[in-house]
Amino acid sequence: MELIDTHCHLTFEQLMPDIDGVLERSKAVGVTSWITIGTDKNENKKALALAEKYDNLYAAVAIHPHEAKTVSADDLEEIRQIAQNPKVVAIGETGLDYHYDFSPAAEQKRLFANLLQIASELQLPVIIHSRKAFGDTVDFLDRYAMNVKKIVFHCFSYSSQEAKVLLDKGFYFSFTGSVTFKNAETIREAAKIIPPERLMIETDCPYMSPEPMRKQKVNEPALLIHTARFLSDLKHIPLEDFVKIVTQTSRSFFSLPHLNI
Ligand SMILES: [Zn+2]
Ligand SMILES: [Zn+2]
Repeated sequence: MELIDTHCHLTFEQLMPDIDGVLERSKAVGVTSWITIGTDKNENKKALALAEKYDNLYAAVAIHPHEAKTVSADDLEEIRQIAQNPKVVAIGETGLDYHYDFSPAAEQKRLFANLLQIASELQLPVIIHSRKAFGDTVDFLDRYAMNVKKIVFHCFSYSSQEAKVLLDKGFYFSFTGSVTFKNAETIREAAKIIPPERLMIETDCPYMSPEPMRKQKVNEPALLIHTARFLSDLKHIPLEDFVKIVTQTSRSFFSLPHLNI
């Protein structure tokens, strides 16, 4: 079995000190490739350095909407530069988050538009973070992502109605352990209607440990297997077949080369 954790934060302090252990435990259960996601200037640099050091580990770079109020023109230029490294496979995570409201909406929107522009120029796929901001996110993608070929909504947290809107637009969906949570019926209803070919999985670690490991405070890529099993059951697809489909989708979405062993 070969699984790809398409969204993890391996550079965060909960995981980085034991990175070799984290990657070994991951490989031991078949999670053999990783995309580590940058969230600010420093994390982007750390993500790229990690990707350059390890086989089958890739980076995405951007500035998280939470950090929008701190961004300068130089920061954006730096992202444009480092995103040209062959180990950078996407722009992300970027989008709008009205749940936490750590940065004013106007600044989140300005940053989002700028990062979509960079993704268009460099022809890179985009990883969207969107929370309690469905209408504005779709509106911005309509306006600024015309030339972005591939878009994934990560940690999908909207309803099946909203999923239908995104399906019609040709977007992709990525699920975290949150789909396994007891109170996540809305997310499960959405997961049911999404064709397996349009779906990817991720840990978003160190956050969001899936059931039955939710008590494990620091999530890590090895736990991705629980989300894979849960979704394969939910969609009535044998685990092996489900894994083959999502891995194929992830490889093609991020244009990853074949597994390097
Ligand atoms: Zn996110
Ligand atoms: Zn994330």
